[in-house]
Amino acid sequence: MDDIKFIIEKLKKSIDNLEIKAELNDIGKVIAFNDGVVLIDGLNEVQSMEILVVKKEKLNIKLLALNLEESLIGAVCLNNFDLLQHNDIVYRTKQVASIGVDERLLGRVINPLGDFLDNLSPIEFTNFYPIERSAPSVTERSPVSVPLHTGIKIIDSLIPIGRGQRELILGDRQTGKTSIALDVILNQKQDVFETPVCIYVAIGQKLSKIKRFYEILKKEGALDYTIIVATSSEDYPTLLYLAPYVGCALGEYFMDQGKDVLVIYDDLTKHAWAWREISLLLKRPVGREAYPGDIFYIHSRLLERAAKLNKGGSLTALPICETQLGDISAYIPTNLISITDGQIYLDNGLFKSNFRPAINIGLSVSRVGSKAQTKIIKKITGKMKLSLAQYRELESFAQLSTELPQEMHRILLRGKIILELLKQDNLHPLSFEKLAILMYAVQNGYFDDFNLQDIRLVESKLIDYLENDCSSLLAQIREVKDLTDDIEIAIKNALQNFFTFLTINNEKNIA
Ligand code: ATP
Ligand code: MG
Repeated sequence: MDDIKFIIEKLKKSIDNLEIKAELNDIGKVIAFNDGVVLIDGLNEVQSMEILVVKKEKLNIKLLALNLEESLIGAVCLNNFDLLQHNDIVYRTKQVASIGVDERLLGRVINPLGDFLDNLSPIEFTNFYPIERSAPSVTERSPVSVPLHTGIKIIDSLIPIGRGQRELILGDRQTGKTSIALDVILNQKQDVFETPVCIYVAIGQKLSKIKRFYEILKKEGALDYTIIVATSSEDYPTLLYLAPYVGCALGEYFMDQGKDVLVIYDDLTKHAWAWREISLLLKRPVGREAYPGDIFYIHSRLLERAAKLNKGGSLTALPICETQLGDISAYIPTNLISITDGQIYLDNGLFKSNFRPAINIGLSVSRVGSKAQTKIIKKITGKMKLSLAQYRELESFAQLSTELPQEMHRILLRGKIILELLKQDNLHPLSFEKLAILMYAVQNGYFDDFNLQDIRLVESKLIDYLENDCSSLLAQIREVKDLTDDIEIAIKNALQNFFTFLTINNEKNIA
């Protein structure tokens, strides 16, 4: 009798301790699928952005849970969509989507799933970062204080960007948006501050354009510090949707190590389209312009992750946005303008009239970057803004009046020269020390005697002269970064030498 009691007790105990491995909540069933979107019954406790798996004989199908409703889960397929069948069993992994992170990713091209697209050997990852993460809190942040020199004259002098800032680049199709991003990356190689890790996120771009971008980076020696996260127009919208989060997570890995990072999202308009497509397939309610109601939230959540941390490290975000017929008051552009710390607006009219980069100075702003400008650029270009403002005011007035006082002529001439000198070919970023000397020369009238059509020729000769004959002055500016008396005298001497040389060789008033 005792024996039986003992056995019953033992059985009771083992029943109590019994662990049920596969809970009912952990498996579900595919009940519908279409265009990469899957509806699953069951899986009551799944988290948002959790990876789910359908096990097939040879391959597994990975899904990403996005729409969590009480009765149905809406997920998107990440791979092998064509293998999916009705009634397939779906398993939870209890892991949110993450990306392998490693120093060795520098110079590589990956897709948002971490697959390598560059035919080089794969990397075994040991460290993973979640692709969705909340942004650093207010107490973890410090003010933007170090410039991110872009090498683009207009931006560095008038719309400066700081490390940790979010600056939107927006404009119509084919107005030079990607070219600006590329120039910014190229310029980091020659910059005086620590070279940031650059991450270029291509969202639904043409494969030929991504290839060209890669080739230029390689040729110019900028690939060593750059990672490309590529999705093309042929990819599923899911991949396009995930790309910026993956780029940001990679950036956070380097930022957490105290490094500066620059992430470019090219472009968030296509990201919004991808999210709209997925949301419509998931049958989520639609709002303005048929975008889902959370489109503002998903972009602000992404861009809030840009930060300058007080423990060191920063993540600068340059999102790109495409406008239609210059309409910056459309839904996505206004959202992004209000989320970011400023915008660089590229104007189709300027582009066509050959004012390139076609930045509309009046409509572009940088709300935090000027605090991070180097003292020398700030001192020299502070006056330039005033000269341009005076020029604009007089320009329309001058068209009406034929006789203008001498002073007004001088202001108009100076304005025209400045605008001429703000033109710049792409793939030719200019370092800040050369920019400082160039702008000093304009402000002090060294260019005033030349014909307008010769200005850029003189500029290129001046740059050559600075590179060949003034290396110690350039080094001094790089070190001090301020317009001290010594540096000002040295700049004056250099300019006098150069312009006298030009006169002697009869190159003044050439045309
Ligand atoms: P898309 O809308 O197709 O993405 P985009 O706005 O990114 O276009 P880009 O591809 O950067 O524009 O540039 C369009 C064309 O303009 C390219 O052929 C490029 O070489 C040229 N371009 C861009 N910037 C300049 C510049 N500063 N000077 C001369 N040409 C330029
Ligand atoms: Mg582009």
